[in-house]
Amino acid sequence: MKKAYLDNASTTQLRPEVVQEMTKILSEDYGNPSSTHSFGRHAKSILELSRKSIAKQLNASAQEIIFTSCGTEANNWILRSAVKDLKVKRIITSKIEHHAVLYTVQSLQQEFDIQVDYVAVKPNGEIDITDLVNLLSQETKTLVSLMHVNNEIGTVLDLEKVGRICEQHYALFHSDTVQSIGKTEIDLQIIPVDFIVASAHKFHGPKGVGFAFIKKNSGLQPIFHGGEQEKGLRPGTESVHQIAGMAKALELSYANLKQERNDILGLKNYLVSQLVFEFPAFKINGSQDGFYTILNVILPFEEEKAVMILFHLDMKGIAVSRGSACQSGSVKGSHVLAEMLSNENLKKPSLRISFSHYNTKEDIDLLINGLKGM
Ligand code: PLP
Repeated sequence: MKKAYLDNASTTQLRPEVVQEMTKILSEDYGNPSSTHSFGRHAKSILELSRKSIAKQLNASAQEIIFTSCGTEANNWILRSAVKDLKVKRIITSKIEHHAVLYTVQSLQQEFDIQVDYVAVKPNGEIDITDLVNLLSQETKTLVSLMHVNNEIGTVLDLEKVGRICEQHYALFHSDTVQSIGKTEIDLQIIPVDFIVASAHKFHGPKGVGFAFIKKNSGLQPIFHGGEQEKGLRPGTESVHQIAGMAKALELSYANLKQERNDILGLKNYLVSQLVFEFPAFKINGSQDGFYTILNVILPFEEEKAVMILFHLDMKGIAVSRGSACQSGSVKGSHVLAEMLSNENLKKPSLRISFSHYNTKEDIDLLINGLKGM
């Protein structure tokens, strides 16, 4: 059966060059980077070259890149240490963040009794910047945590603008950039942000590895304790093959960005034109000009079909999602759509279709045919 993988916001296929790089390291370069003998030194050099390569892609300095096991860990670390060690008394975030931020903030609120304010979300899923400025008028040590690209609806935050606003109000700025790293240019010499995070499996790298950008002299402290790895900020023997695979994946993503973005945008426009033709009453959830890799739509089907749609498409080999991956297969609705849609629209079937450069027009045709068979 011909299959179509259209769930790339959930995870992505590895690039062959990444598999090759990782396989070589797994079989040949097995030293522990903390060992002082030649095996260790060799592993250490792979690690540091990977760090340099990642820093270069983002115009950061290598010492600002700290490897973690995933995006979730990086978000947890930054938010927790900001409260515990940087004495942040208040977090401003939004109700449409990924649970890696949302639930972490809720847990910190309970544990440390900090103030948490949620910035208003506009009906198109964009963050209301005027509300953010109003919220920032309080004189409390504040951290703003707002994601760059929303993983469910693809709305984009203007990082530079929000960064400047935070600077003007002496607030720290953390952004969950898991969906945008490797998919759009990020120049950390221009964007005033204190902390961003990435996850390799979202940009055709391996699962179980990510990194945090921690601005120089931030004062952030570790949440794990143990060895001196990552300057003591993230103890634990580094997963050299994963880190090198991540660096390779990021390098290739940026080397091919212009072409791949163009191709993906073409596919997304093709899907929209097919939806307009076959299901003219469909609606886009989020902004009309959302991020090029994600399209979230309400389909004009009866409510009963909402429950069955993923199953029906899956039977035909088509992988899409109803929200974030942790929610696909769960009975819980999307917390992001719940913030934006009327009760009536919430009951209708919404689908998140997310693309990569591996997708083709054929994949879109399969999806459209699958939907026509509903
Ligand atoms: N943040 C966002 C916006 C995401 O989309 C995801 C993954 O779905 C995460 C964080 C979690 O990343 P990881 O899977 O590396 O823990």
